[in-house]
Amino acid sequence: MTERTEKTDIKSLTRKELTEEMGLLGEKSFRAGQLYGWMHEKLAAGFEEMTNLSRQFRETLQENYAYVTLEPVEVEISRIDGTRKYLFRLPDGLVIESVLMKYRHGNSVCISSQAGCRMGCRFCASTIGGLERSLRASEMLEQIYQIQKLSGERVSHVVIMGTGEPLDNYENLLRFLELLTGEGGLHISQRNVTVSTCGLVPQIRQLAKEGLQITLALSLHAATQEKRQELMPIAKKYQMPEVLAACEEYQKKTGRRMTFEYSLVRGVNDSREDARGLAALVGPLHGHVNLIPVNPVRERAFTQPEKKVVNDFKIHLENYGINVTIRREMGRDINGACGQLRKSYMEGRSQC
Ligand code: SAH
Repeated sequence: MTERTEKTDIKSLTRKELTEEMGLLGEKSFRAGQLYGWMHEKLAAGFEEMTNLSRQFRETLQENYAYVTLEPVEVEISRIDGTRKYLFRLPDGLVIESVLMKYRHGNSVCISSQAGCRMGCRFCASTIGGLERSLRASEMLEQIYQIQKLSGERVSHVVIMGTGEPLDNYENLLRFLELLTGEGGLHISQRNVTVSTCGLVPQIRQLAKEGLQITLALSLHAATQEKRQELMPIAKKYQMPEVLAACEEYQKKTGRRMTFEYSLVRGVNDSREDARGLAALVGPLHGHVNLIPVNPVRERAFTQPEKKVVNDFKIHLENYGINVTIRREMGRDINGACGQLRKSYMEGRSQC
């Protein structure tokens, strides 16, 4: 019986690895540079497009490597602000969601790091069906490559805030960051990349040592351990003091200010007392607070506070000297919360 081995995913190889691979095939190192440019700068759809490589070499590549691409399934465009939500099919048939948001400072793409999620945050649509699998580096990159090609817009900022917990897919995330921000590809500035985490302490500490200049955002969502663990089961494993100490270490080692995300939920974490507690936690870290009025999810009972409550919460924080913004709700008219487009698509399919 012949053993079936999976072909190497060539788009997930770093530049150095690709050069080594080409060496093993007996190719000169400049071939690796050309190939890398086709994949990560010219965003070629397949080996057949790489016309300055010999036919024979392209055939060898085709035989030996998998060329991962995503298939666009659906796009929804907001009439309010032009935000676009994309649904992509992965090579194994699973679907994921990504979003293009246009800001004055540039175009930002929000990508998924996993299909589904196993963190179980109570207000989040992405976690309802659990984790299907983690994404490869190529599959994270392809979300950006496809969006750039489909929209014709140049992507300047990337946030890893779609479905999944990026630090639960650590090795692939680092590989992705290297390919995204390194030379010879899209070469996006590390400072324009934000990784959002629910607070996996060992991985935050590890990330602090990688020598990167990316922004780390912590999903805090509550000012006390009790409230946090009600909203986020992972908080039972990594408790508040431990998480905040890891954030402090991240700031010290990288010199980058943290962002703290706080989803405001009516009657749950939106009181004056909550604002005071939050200020006491993040004040000493001089971080930035991003307030997100919770996006209602059909399966969940959480609702947004009144506009005035949200504004008052912001003012309270500012009075304590906290740097704070209310996240502008993008694409409100197109399947609200993260993970909802994917979910409604899958539900639609299972009814067929
Ligand atoms: N797993 C990562 C990134 C994915 S979610 C994390 O937890 O940070 C990106 C952000 O959106 C997180 O802060 C998450 O808590 C928040 N979020 C998820 N569902 C939401 C909802 N329905 N309303 C508002 N924010 C939500």
